[in-house]
Amino acid sequence: MTIITRFAPSPTGYIHIGNARTALANWLYAKRRDGKFILRLDDTDVERSKREYADAIVRDLEWFGIAPDAMYRQSDRFAIYQEAAERLKTAGVLYACYETADELERRRRLRLARKLPPVYGRESLKLTAVERAKLEAEGKKPHWRFLLPNFKNDPFSPERTEVHWDDLVRGRQTVDLASLSDPVLIREDGTWLYTMPSVVDDIELGVTHVIRGEDHVTNTGAQITLFNALGAEPPVFGHHNLLTTISGEGLSKRTGSLSIGSLARAGYEPEAVASLALLTGTSDNVEAFGSLAEIGKHFDLAHVSKSAAKFDPAELETLNRSLVHHMPFGAVELRLKRAGIDGQLAEPFWLAVRANLGKVVEASDWWPIVTEGPASDEKPDAADLPFLDQAFELLPEGPIHAETWKQWTALIKAETGRAGKALFMPLRLALTGRSHGPELAQLLPLIGREGILARRP
Ligand code: GLU
Repeated sequence: MTIITRFAPSPTGYIHIGNARTALANWLYAKRRDGKFILRLDDTDVERSKREYADAIVRDLEWFGIAPDAMYRQSDRFAIYQEAAERLKTAGVLYACYETADELERRRRLRLARKLPPVYGRESLKLTAVERAKLEAEGKKPHWRFLLPNFKNDPFSPERTEVHWDDLVRGRQTVDLASLSDPVLIREDGTWLYTMPSVVDDIELGVTHVIRGEDHVTNTGAQITLFNALGAEPPVFGHHNLLTTISGEGLSKRTGSLSIGSLARAGYEPEAVASLALLTGTSDNVEAFGSLAEIGKHFDLAHVSKSAAKFDPAELETLNRSLVHHMPFGAVELRLKRAGIDGQLAEPFWLAVRANLGKVVEASDWWPIVTEGPASDEKPDAADLPFLDQAFELLPEGPIHAETWKQWTALIKAETGRAGKALFMPLRLALTGRSHGPELAQLLPLIGREGILARRP
């Protein structure tokens, strides 16, 4: 059997790191098992769904290195849902309801006052064909509910009916169908709610594993019965915990602050974001791995914890830095070239500076320092100028190589008696214009003899 997973965002905003968690988990699950990964845009809400968001989702997945094996839009598939709805109507499990929101709320309060579960009492199911025709003649439009199979013979006497599934994350799960209202599948204006198109598509597209956020656990109880009502075997489900901010707030597509696009634009590596998105809230250490395949080896749905996963954006800095420190030249060559860091020096330059960078883009700060002259950030103390004069006189003859710094500073020490910071800081300031930075031993050969001598204060 080919494993087929899907990521099913609604294109009503830019996806955030929590959505990326779902996308990555599905993609990895399929790819580690030679399966297929589908991108399904849940755009049944035509008003709020935007092309711009859909395009951004595709771009964001691409940024992670994910190319879906297939892509579908629910807005192209209304006829398929309609056909399924007709089948349910024929089977008598999709029924017309005419209550207004106010009426439903009033009844809900009444039930609560009577200590009854606040679920829909199926009043519209009692309507005769004549009564329905009368309501429609008055201009009332129905919404449609799915009759949950939570009764023996009498739908007005629901009884405890358990639905079970073995969740890939949460283990054995039980939902009592008597605790749920018959879900509305179609609104008064004929538009589709999420529940049914999702199930119909999962059936039609052969989805074998549904991995999604735990906010869908209750839906799953109702959806399993919908799979059955449509004559299909339900897929395997896995509900992962949701990422929250440090203060415990949920992430929202609408705020856009932690959108994948904004993290990409801020210069984070996709692997750092993916490592954090997947490994937060698991029993594994949050470490940055250099490729999705590598992250996949460490990510296991069974290790995802059952409580909320607090996510600290500051951790991204640390993860990114640790990735950049080990990045081979080949991984950044093109990006450096685009930033004008090119030619024979590019590779040794990268290897010299990477250990000092939080992000790859910061390499651009160091390139002019190496190839043109010191930054204007900081200057050596005036009191150190005589020392520097003496030091520059001592620069060893011949080409500058990896050992030059060691030889040079040994000479300076012997001649001036200075050591440690008092020796190297004035030199660092004169050579780079900064008090921190990559190792001078590695920078010297890049700056070259002429460049060094030109920096003599
Ligand atoms: N569009 C739904 C959501 O974004 C999909 C849920 C699912 O994966 O079934 O929550």
